[in-house]
Amino acid sequence: MRNLRHFLLMVIIPLLLAAVGVSALTIDLVSRLSTGANIEDHRRTAEVVNAAILATQNELSNAVSDNANWDDGAIQVYKPEIDHEYVNLTWGETSAMGVLYDLIFVVTSDGKLLSGFIGGEQVDLDPHGFLGGRLMSLLSALPQNATEAKSAAAVVETPRGIVAFSVGNFVPTSSDTVLDSPGPRYLVLGRFLDAGFLAELGNRYVVDKLALTPARSEGFVALENSFGDYMGTLTWQDRRPGDLTRAAIILPATAMLALLAAVMTAIALICWQQFQLIAKRERQAQYDASHDALTGLPNRVALIRGTSAALSNAGNTVAVLFIDLDGFKDVNDTYDHATGDALIRAVAAGFAVLLPEGAQLGRIGGDEFLILITGPTAEAEAVSAAGCILEFLAQPFDLEGRIAMVGASIGMAHAIGGTVEAGELMRRADVAMYDAKARHKNRLEIYTPAMDGERNGQTVILDELRGFIDNGLIEVAYQPIIDAATLKICAVEALARWPKAAARHVGPDKFIAIAESSGLINRLGMQILDKACSDAASWGDLRVAINISPIQLRDPEFAARVLEVVSSHGINPSRIEFEVTEGTLIEQPDRIAPIFEKLQRAGFSIALDDFGSGYSSIAYLRQLPFNRIKIDRSITSELLISESARSMIQATGLIAHGLHAQVTAEGVEAEEEIQMLRLAGCSELQGYFFGKPQSSAAVTSMIEAAAAPEREALNG
Ligand code: C2E
Ligand code: MG
Ligand code: MG
Repeated sequence: MRNLRHFLLMVIIPLLLAAVGVSALTIDLVSRLSTGANIEDHRRTAEVVNAAILATQNELSNAVSDNANWDDGAIQVYKPEIDHEYVNLTWGETSAMGVLYDLIFVVTSDGKLLSGFIGGEQVDLDPHGFLGGRLMSLLSALPQNATEAKSAAAVVETPRGIVAFSVGNFVPTSSDTVLDSPGPRYLVLGRFLDAGFLAELGNRYVVDKLALTPARSEGFVALENSFGDYMGTLTWQDRRPGDLTRAAIILPATAMLALLAAVMTAIALICWQQFQLIAKRERQAQYDASHDALTGLPNRVALIRGTSAALSNAGNTVAVLFIDLDGFKDVNDTYDHATGDALIRAVAAGFAVLLPEGAQLGRIGGDEFLILITGPTAEAEAVSAAGCILEFLAQPFDLEGRIAMVGASIGMAHAIGGTVEAGELMRRADVAMYDAKARHKNRLEIYTPAMDGERNGQTVILDELRGFIDNGLIEVAYQPIIDAATLKICAVEALARWPKAAARHVGPDKFIAIAESSGLINRLGMQILDKACSDAASWGDLRVAINISPIQLRDPEFAARVLEVVSSHGINPSRIEFEVTEGTLIEQPDRIAPIFEKLQRAGFSIALDDFGSGYSSIAYLRQLPFNRIKIDRSITSELLISESARSMIQATGLIAHGLHAQVTAEGVEAEEEIQMLRLAGCSELQGYFFGKPQSSAAVTSMIEAAAAPEREALNG
């Protein structure tokens, strides 16, 4: 709509104005030209009509000269008695034909009629009165003799109509002609301006329908007598050449305007197309700027905007769920990026279905999503949505035959509109998400201000940890692992320890998680292995269990690297067992299995650590080659009080047996547990009952003590 308005203002209206302007100018020009031509023609016709009247008078004057300057005529009219028959024959009959004149008077100098004919009829009248009282003044201007010839003309109104006449004195051509009467005689020839004559005049001068009307008609030729009295108006029908011009121009002009309209329309259409294209690109750019290309969901920018808008509403409850997928990187590494992308799309589609009404879902990073919920029940809705999301992610994804398993660490923060900024609310949800990650992932944590301190604390720990690793200060403690049959030490588990000399103590659960999330775990893992191998060099063939993080398994060179470290200490790989937490393994058996096989081929053995604490899916276990299952101490600790814990351990024993694996029970704290664990098929035992994690020196003494004969008594 806005675009259309824009387009109308910028293109259509100017084009329309230009088109209308050009059309109006053209029409005006044509009309001016034609009107001008019409006016000019009318003016010229008026001149012609005036000239025609003058010419008529001149013709009459010429006729008077011809007929009055003639010996015989002069002799006849100067006779004391006028011969009417002679006048009739000479002029009267001509007046009947109406060719040159239709009025002929022969008069004396005092205006007396000697003989007169009008239209061939002899008349007896007072010439001066008949000719509108104009005759005498003309006569007075003429010579009063018969020697000098002269004439004068006028147009006057008579009882029979308007007449143009001329009067001249009779003068014989021969000087010796003897005239009877001394008084001068005059010839009057007149022509009535009647319809017939005017038609003839019109024909001669090419003036259509020349006519005389008594009424005044503006713009035409008014006839006045010499006294200035109005007599009538000569009218005619204008030829209007302008109309012809207009008719001639109008077709090409219309064609030109039509062409112009077509060109304008074409320009408007092209402009509209361009406009649409630009508008489309603009819309696309706006969309791209606020959307994630992979999922089509709103991106970080759009979500910040949305959160800001929601928070600008004072009193509005706004909840934000910050979701970070657990294990997504492994999917990407195991398969390919296309599978990773497919997983993100599948996850996004699933989340979209689980959204509460009115909630907004967006993707803000590689495997990070954000859900914005507003309204009085936003907090409860967010918690419930988080539950649904965790439940949804508990199912594996089948991506065209590739099975992928991810979890999610979810952080939630909520606030009342007007109390915090969008960025701060999102940061809080992010902090809560990190807390969820630190607490073994796949869970929802709700933001509390204490988490900020924890987060800050983590940064300090990370700095310290980096320093310790750089200087090789991380220590290793060893917890004995006992042969269930002989109760002799058969192995030790190497456990990373924060340096005792440090100002404060940080537990391995915490700093290992920080090392994992900061990428320091690879170096840390290698240092532990290196130290353990160095310590184990003097422990005969005692097995050493080394914990490894799944992150370390992403390194394609992992097997080669560990082999190099182990060999550098002259340790046989068969003495080294890698413990990997079961939970992360089952997510990607396809990827993990070949790594395990490679390590096993090199002589190492593999233990599934903390078995029973997490997923424990037998289907996945079958796909993984491993040598040992370590039953999590949360199960062992329930052994004496819980039937299901006992069943669980027994079932584990059976599975392990079926898969040709050994079973170690962790967390053995009481003597009563020993027999039950033995019966359940546990071949090795580990726990505080046998010994806490201790220094390498303590392990050395323990080995030596185990070799002593008094220990034999306990056996059985
Ligand atoms: P884990 O591999 O399951 O190690 C066993 C943990 O159980 C140790 O805790 C040990 O002290 C504790 N434990 C053993 N017996 C008993 C018992 O009878 N009762 C009780 N309550 N606890 C017992 P620790 O040393 O705090 O290590 C915690 C976890 O940190 C380890 O669990 C392991 O997953 C991780 N970890 C420790 N060192 C390393 C390491 O070098 N690399 C890696 N990747 N992870 C490590
Ligand atoms: Mg372990
Ligand atoms: Mg364990």
